[in-house]
Amino acid sequence: MILVYMKATNRCNVGCTHCYLPLEVRADKTRMTDEVLTASAAFLSDMRNFGRHDGIQVLWHGGEPLVLSADWYWKAGELLDRELPGHVESMQTSLIPLRPEHVPLMRERFGGLVGTSVDFSQRMIGGSVEAYHKLWQKKVDMARDGGIEIIPGIVPTTNELGREEWIVDWMVERRFAAFNVDRYNAYGTSFPDRPTNLQHSYFLMGLFEALMARMEKTGFAPINGAIRASITGVLYGVGGDRWGGTCMNDFVVVEPDGSLNNCPDKSSFEESYGNVRDGYKAFAGNKFRRKWVRHQGLTHKESHCFTCENQHFCGSGCPITPNGAAHGEDECSGYRTYLSAVRRFSERPGGRETMIAYLDQMKKDSTLDRATRYGGGDNQGACAA
Ligand code: SF4
Ligand code: SF4
Repeated sequence: MILVYMKATNRCNVGCTHCYLPLEVRADKTRMTDEVLTASAAFLSDMRNFGRHDGIQVLWHGGEPLVLSADWYWKAGELLDRELPGHVESMQTSLIPLRPEHVPLMRERFGGLVGTSVDFSQRMIGGSVEAYHKLWQKKVDMARDGGIEIIPGIVPTTNELGREEWIVDWMVERRFAAFNVDRYNAYGTSFPDRPTNLQHSYFLMGLFEALMARMEKTGFAPINGAIRASITGVLYGVGGDRWGGTCMNDFVVVEPDGSLNNCPDKSSFEESYGNVRDGYKAFAGNKFRRKWVRHQGLTHKESHCFTCENQHFCGSGCPITPNGAAHGEDECSGYRTYLSAVRRFSERPGGRETMIAYLDQMKKDSTLDRATRYGGGDNQGACAA
């Protein structure tokens, strides 16, 4: 499955300090033209055929995709239906600019499921986090009234460490049956409030414990993409989320001007890998892309990976996350401390059963599966917050 981050525009007026896009990029009002969309369709069609991919998911992304009108997306969708039959579409948005006209679009073109980033400490409106949350909730309610399932995505900063139980309660109180966690990346830059790998491990551990405790107590806990993938990894050797991915080969970022990359977090910091107008073969042969595909498959792994009990499903995790001490981190890029905690939980009496019951919630509601399945396939689980 090809996952395409289709950046209709890089413009965004929400203004989060941890945004992966530099300020000047977010101020750029350029929007994708029909010519770029048409060239993208031809490019993706070739990528599907030559790369033997079984489908294409176009994830509208930005910037903030909802700064464009619903009409723009209806027309873009018609063009893609014509030029790229068989693709599916979804959207990742802050929801803040949502207008009633966008809701039917979400229902009819995005399968009634929309991923939205939510922030607990940095996003503000008029200097107030509370005002931001109030407005965000209003937009959530607007979408829900139109039958849209909203899947929040969070990027934990150091401010969220230790607040995992509170976050789970927050999701339950607001009736979110699924949510995702994105890693706070700092590719090509640095942020003082980015958690280290070990801190991220502890965050995941706190989330896992809060979810399993809720599962044991009430028989229900929201599905989280990272927690789900760690459980399937430990119990069945099947990765997901940041574990065992092939994003460098399967993901494409198309910037508003048609320039290309394979990761939304790298795209603004690297020389582009060409342009959709140059065709798929030029992209496939691009030396930077090839270097990253090789890095994900081979050179990102460190000696500690080769003796690790998780190596069959971890694949050393996200290839832009520094992998351990040799790269200035206090933990490997697969968050081994966290995975060890999941394994220990599975070995304690009743632990395995609780984890399986947690996964089984997806059998009763396939939306939960779609909402947290990683890397394409009519889902919202992507590196996308
Ligand atoms: S050491 Fe870490 S990155 Fe390497 S395979 Fe194990 S969990 Fe993954
Ligand atoms: S897993 Fe890492 S490298 Fe791959 S798309 Fe996500 S952030 Fe980028």
